[in-house]
Formats: sequence, structure tokens, C-alpha cells
Amino acid sequence: MKKTVLITGGSGYIGSWITKYLLEAGHIVRLTVRDKSKREKIAHLEAVQEQQAGQLEIWEADLLKEGSFDEAARGADVLMHVASPFILKVKDAQKDLVDPAQKGTLNVLRAASQSGTIKKVILTSSVVSIFGDAKDMADQNLKEFTEAQWNTTSNLEHQPYSYSKTLAEKAAWDLHATQKQWKLIAINPAFVMGPPLGKNSDSESILFMKRMLTGAYKTGAAPFYFGFVDVRDVAKAHILAMEEDVQEGRHITVESTHSMLELANTIESEFNQQFKLPTSTTPTLLLYVLGWAFGLSWKYIRRNAGYPIAYNTTRSRENLGLIYRPFSETIRDMVHVMQERNIV
Ligand code: NAP
Repeated sequence: MKKTVLITGGSGYIGSWITKYLLEAGHIVRLTVRDKSKREKIAHLEAVQEQQAGQLEIWEADLLKEGSFDEAARGADVLMHVASPFILKVKDAQKDLVDPAQKGTLNVLRAASQSGTIKKVILTSSVVSIFGDAKDMADQNLKEFTEAQWNTTSNLEHQPYSYSKTLAEKAAWDLHATQKQWKLIAINPAFVMGPPLGKNSDSESILFMKRMLTGAYKTGAAPFYFGFVDVRDVAKAHILAMEEDVQEGRHITVESTHSMLELANTIESEFNQQFKLPTSTTPTLLLYVLGWAFGLSWKYIRRNAGYPIAYNTTRSRENLGLIYRPFSETIRDMVHVMQERNIV
């Protein structure tokens, strides 16, 4: 059934794929951006709309301006709150990360309540609101992370992005508990990879792959493990969450877990010697010496280097019915598109 969907952050890396799928399904998409005059941020979505049955409306709103989403929320059926800064290097973690994430979430969700019409909120959270450091798994005696855990180890100084996402998701569940109008579904992806639709995202996903392909890690891959998931599957998870019979709650969204070296080897196997990729793993001791050049604190290295991680993804498969694309396809498609668009 055709719905009116308000989406924040719809111009970004993940948001663009969600918007594309919503337009393909014929929905009315109310997309908010901070600055409407920056047409280059939404040109790729206007091109999608021309081919599809759905209708794209562009609204202006800022996470930090109280009440700025109220008008766009009026009359909408579903809210997808995707917007949040995903930047790892910031000057002021409170101002640059926590405020837009936490206050922004409350601002947007209050607009949903005020609308009177929005019955479902789909929140783009992250696995970083489930745990902060890889070592948390061993510290908590866990075989894998599940939706029952919350990140208790991040703060303004250590892993501030993870802290901002934890506070934002908590704020959403707290507000949800005070009302009965809207259901809440959180999507908690790990590191998102896969082809970008637009050219202008500052998402750390794109920046990380750009660094990998341009030789930033050629002297050695850090001994870190990440969960990976395709951007198209994360977008699909948001679309599936719109279905009536989906239960409320959190959803870890991860296809598989790999080391940085395994990622480099996956690229190499498809793009034979086209990039200056790492061929070995940097020993942890050496990382303590070199880590500062990559902005890695000793605490980060101590709590993450060499610790594998594992996730339970049953809920995303069973409650949402999500079927994941294999990691190798995700990486291959991402690198191809970044080459085609001259992002690398
Ligand atoms: P992105 O491309 O940088 O998108 C971020 C979006 O947030 C942009 O559309 C941006 O809008 C918007 N935004 C940022 N600050 C804002 C503000 N003050 N007011 C209004 N809008 C603001 O990053 P992404 O990777 O797609 O991330 C999208 C969401 O997914 C975030 O919530 C992120 O935490 C979450 N997530 C990402 C990953 C990942 O690996 N990429 C993993 C887990 C969760 P403008 O166009 O106005 O700049």
C-alpha cells in the first residue's frame, strides 16, 4: 500500500538506497536535507524519481533546530530516522557527534508524536550501541553479541561516535516507552560497505574504502576485526521493517565478520594488483608505535587489536526476513562503482 514516508538523512550513503527502494515501491518520500540549495546532494535521487512511480518531496530541516521536522511529519505514516553524523575525527565530540545524535533523535521523534499520524518509527542505529570495543565480548563472557547487550564502555573521550549512537538509541527507546502512537524498530548495522548511489557522502564507509584503495594501509593491515554488511541490505532491512507483522525491537544487521587483511585479500582477488593493498598484518606491538598516525589511541589498540568478534543475526533474518548478499559481491560492487564514478 502506498505510504507517506518521512526520511531524515535520505541524501546520505545509506539513506539514498532507502529512498531509491521507497520510490521504486511507489511511496511518497519526504526527504529532509539541511540545505535545499545543495542540489548536488540529491541529484542522484531526482534522477531515480524520474524512472519510478513514487514521488519525491524535498524538505529543509536540521537535527539541532528544535521543531524543524514538525511540519514535514504532519500527515506522514512512517518515519525513518537515518540522519546522524558518522565521522570519526571530530574537534568537539559533544557538539559534533553527541548533540546531533541524541538531541536530534529526540527532536525528530517528538515530531513523530506531534504529527498524530505516524504509526511506525524505523531508527538507523548501529552495532556500536550494542558494544564499544571488541574486548567487551571476552570481558562479558559472551560467545557472540546479541540485541540484549548495550554499549557500556564508550564515552566522550573513548569511541565518541559509538557513545553518540548509544545515547541516541537509548533516547529513542525511552521516549517510545512514554507513548502508544508509534512502534519502534531499530536497525543496528555493522560496518556498511557496497556501492554508493551518490558522489557526495562523507560517510566513514566511503572514506575507509578510499584510504584502503589509495594505499593508506599498504605497509600492513591493523589487527582489527569488523562485521560487514551490504548497504543495499541495510536499506532493505528498513523497507522490510515497514511490514505490519514485524515485531518491535533491535536488529543486528551483519553478513559476516572479517579482519582488515581479509578485506584487502578479497579486493585483491577481484582486482589483481590494481591497488596498493596490505599483504600482511601489522604486529600489535608495532601498532602502539605507529597507531598515532591513524588517530588510534593506546586504549583503542589495547581493547580492540587481535580480538575477533561475533554477532547473532537471527533476529534480522527471522523477524525482518532479510536475506544477505555475500561479502565478496558487496566489496566487488563497491570498488567497481567507486572506480566508475572517479571516487578513487
Ligand atoms: P552519511 O552518508 O554521512 O549520511 C549522514 C546523513 O545525516 C546525511 O544525509 C546528512 O545530511 C545527515 N545529517 C548529519 N548531520 C545532520 C544534521 N545536523 N541535521 C540534519 N541532517 C544531518 O552517513 P551514512 O553512513 O549513510 O550514515 C547514515 C546513518 O547510518 C547514521 O545514523 C549512521 O550512524 C548509521 N550507520 C552507519 C554505518 C556505516 O558503516 N556507514 C553503520 C552503522 C550505522 P546532509 O546531507 O544534510 O549532510
